[in-house]
Amino acid sequence: MTIIQDLGDYKGNHLWMKREDLLPFSFGGNKARKAELFFREIDAGKYDCVVTYGSGSSNHCRVVANECCRRGLTCFIISPLETSEETFNSEMIRLFGAEVTIVPVSEVHDTIERILRQLREGGKRPYFIAGGGHGDIGTEAYVQCYLEIKRFEEAEKIHFDYLFLASGTGTTQAGLVCGQLLSGDERKIIGISIARKNPRGRDVVVESVKSYLGERADEETIQAATVFLDNYTDGYGKEDRRVLDTIDFVLKRYGIPLDAVYTGKAFMGMDDCLKEIRGKNVLFIHTGGTPLFFDALRNRK
Ligand SMILES: *Cc1c(COP(=O)(O)O)cnc(C)c1O
Repeated sequence: MTIIQDLGDYKGNHLWMKREDLLPFSFGGNKARKAELFFREIDAGKYDCVVTYGSGSSNHCRVVANECCRRGLTCFIISPLETSEETFNSEMIRLFGAEVTIVPVSEVHDTIERILRQLREGGKRPYFIAGGGHGDIGTEAYVQCYLEIKRFEEAEKIHFDYLFLASGTGTTQAGLVCGQLLSGDERKIIGISIARKNPRGRDVVVESVKSYLGERADEETIQAATVFLDNYTDGYGKEDRRVLDTIDFVLKRYGIPLDAVYTGKAFMGMDDCLKEIRGKNVLFIHTGGTPLFFDALRNRK
């Protein structure tokens, strides 16, 4: 459970924020919510180690390494050389004692297969988690989040017309869309892509929704409910002035940290969308990434 904070009038609309960044484990965020479900399986299944992958700035790898560390499980992380930069997340991953293997991105897949095979041949029982917690379990975590949002609406007698969020592997968005379709709710869920381009980015979200819902929704309904904007992927790097200005603004005005990879970009994308929207109730999903806030703070000139 996370709070939904009322931030008042914003650009002719009313803004709320769901503070997934305040989930009470390892700096929170959507990866903490997903990991809770993965580790329920791990705890029930007598696994003795975990294998996953992600970059040096990965919130997912930080949370999974922390969950492993508290249980005394070895955490194997495969990280692409091209994105294995030093960050507060990578420093924590080291602190948690994870075994990180860095290989060129083209070799990530084979390396995962090799490490899993070697562990099994050595008599181990590894549990594999896809990067970012992608898959039906990750989707389920955000169906649950959607139901929390609905309970809030019922209790407070309000209706959110729009949900905005940062979308990466798309599992978080897929879970919210599944929750919406299962509930039959009218509203727009807008994913702001932090990396992938369309059509692939949107297709991945649609695939995740289909995988989770099976026969429970038809193609047309799923397509109509999946909005994935890719206008902030090129040229909006971590040093982008507009992203940093957005981060500064939200910190100064609301005291809430955003980061330059995910939530800062998503908030900026929401700002642009709100130019065309008036008088609506808008919910921004703060998907976490707090350690990356400090990277952005440290790295600025
Ligand atoms: C991973 C991540 C996302 C993207 O989540 P997906 O489910 O992969 O789309 C968004 N925000 C933050 C802070 C993240 O760490």
